[in-house]
Amino acid sequence: MTTIVNKPKNIAVLGATGSIGLQALDIIERSQGRYRASVLAAGSQVDKLIELALTHKPDLAIIADEKKYQILRGALQPLGIKTAAGAKALEEAAAAENVDMVLTATVGYSGLAPTIVAIKANKDIALANKETLVVAGALIEKLQNHSHSKIYPVDSEHSAIYQCLQGEDMARVNRLIITASGGPFRTWTTAQIANATVEDALNHPNWHMGAKITIDSATMLNKAFEIIEARWLFKMPPSKITPVVHPQSIIHSMVEYADGAVKAQLGTPDMRLPIAYALGEATRDNYLLPPLTLQQMSVLTFMEPDLKKFPCLDLAYYALEKGGNSACIINAANEIAVAAFLHGKISFPQIYTTITEALAQMPFILDPTYEDYVATNAETRALAQELIEKNKK
Ligand code: MG
Repeated sequence: MTTIVNKPKNIAVLGATGSIGLQALDIIERSQGRYRASVLAAGSQVDKLIELALTHKPDLAIIADEKKYQILRGALQPLGIKTAAGAKALEEAAAAENVDMVLTATVGYSGLAPTIVAIKANKDIALANKETLVVAGALIEKLQNHSHSKIYPVDSEHSAIYQCLQGEDMARVNRLIITASGGPFRTWTTAQIANATVEDALNHPNWHMGAKITIDSATMLNKAFEIIEARWLFKMPPSKITPVVHPQSIIHSMVEYADGAVKAQLGTPDMRLPIAYALGEATRDNYLLPPLTLQQMSVLTFMEPDLKKFPCLDLAYYALEKGGNSACIINAANEIAVAAFLHGKISFPQIYTTITEALAQMPFILDPTYEDYVATNAETRALAQELIEKNKK
């Protein structure tokens, strides 16, 4: 047993019942008391949240879905665990005094508000919710300039780039090379993709993730989002961020320097590695995770992404060039379109057409305020619903 000298680092886990949340809790358990989950927050899976709270004994458990509050309270109050419900409670938790770091692992747009609150409260952030930077990267950058809050990327590609940049001069970076597995449809034809089922799209070759991000990987919009995320995290112009398809998902991303050297970070496709690196503020501890055995790998291959087959990928450069609320529109239309695809309402290619139709119809705002993002998100979602009703198969 390790003797614990210091007080544990208190972590607010937002999105505790999701794939990243559960893997973060596994790292917290493996940390032998260095980390503690002081807040556990979930969207609507109340039974799972109760189960996690019984194991991790947080100070506070939050359920976003207010209808589930009585169940949560009934189960946890007798144990002395505080409970709360609703979006506001999530924001308060991100700024709470007994929180040292906020892990944002909620799905989609919902990550934005608590991240903003955490930055304003000078809390360090382990950022798993990429949509925050996609939707409002410019606003987050402005807020960060007035805060001591540091953002540690959890996304595996950005963690890899972050690791490759340690000890380097940013002025000597030629470009960031973001690897992409290519998703389940990498080897499919356009005609095959047009008839892809939900099951096909959820069948990711390398990573086991939540449904939303798995569909985003299949359209490759996830990679577009990661290009936007890299733009804001590393302050790099879009022309210096290049995606490359690497089907084995062993190299998690690379950085090319002025002298021609390329640094890469390799690892098994296991999200606990970037999670641990972020929770540890770019330090390395041994969590007894399975090692990478290069001898078992015969080849590592790389290829250009096919923009004809995956038009969503190009939306990154469109959004970064246009700026304003355009990425917010793309994100909101995508969230509605992905949900509709998962419910069998639209075909796989209609995810892209729903996004482009929303982009064509939504008013453009060049320099949005927070309120403008909120309005753009709500209006785009309503518009995307209408478009889907009109076009549904
Ligand atoms: Mg990623």
